[in-house]
Amino acid sequence: MAEIGRSIVKMDVDKLLNLLNNALADEWLAYYQYWIGAKVVKGPMKDAVIAELTLHATEELNHAELIVTRIVQLGGTPVLSPEEWLKITNCGYDTPSDPYVEVILDQNIKGEQCAIRTYSKLLDITREADPVTYNIILTIISQEVEHEEDLSALKEDLELMLAKRK
Ligand code: FE
Ligand code: FE
Ligand code: MG
Repeated sequence: MAEIGRSIVKMDVDKLLNLLNNALADEWLAYYQYWIGAKVVKGPMKDAVIAELTLHATEELNHAELIVTRIVQLGGTPVLSPEEWLKITNCGYDTPSDPYVEVILDQNIKGEQCAIRTYSKLLDITREADPVTYNIILTIISQEVEHEEDLSALKEDLELMLAKRK
């Protein structure tokens, strides 16, 4: 454990570790939701959507990597079992039981919006108290904002394509 590294955190470290574990559960669920969504998605613009979902999956996994590294640095125990994910997640999991592109896009847009809200709160909490965590969360939230925009742009293209031309 980074003892001095931990000592400079100006907030309850256990509370911070709980918040980081909640985010770690979110990232794993987001990873799987994207990854499995890319396997089952059907409909117009399927190829473009699959490419984006697959890329986002790898980026969510990288977010999990960034968060777990920080948890271990702070002397915490990262969530050790998938059973815990659904119990401690902020943003939950949207089962892609309807594979239609627009439904999958909507589910993942909703997930990104939750992630942005969650990380925005975490930025507020850590801004003064823990600049190291703040910096990590800033990196992650920047990518979540990009994810929301990418999916929204795909949805817009899909709507334009499907709209009847007069
Ligand atoms: Fe993420
Ligand atoms: Fe994301
Ligand atoms: Mg993207």
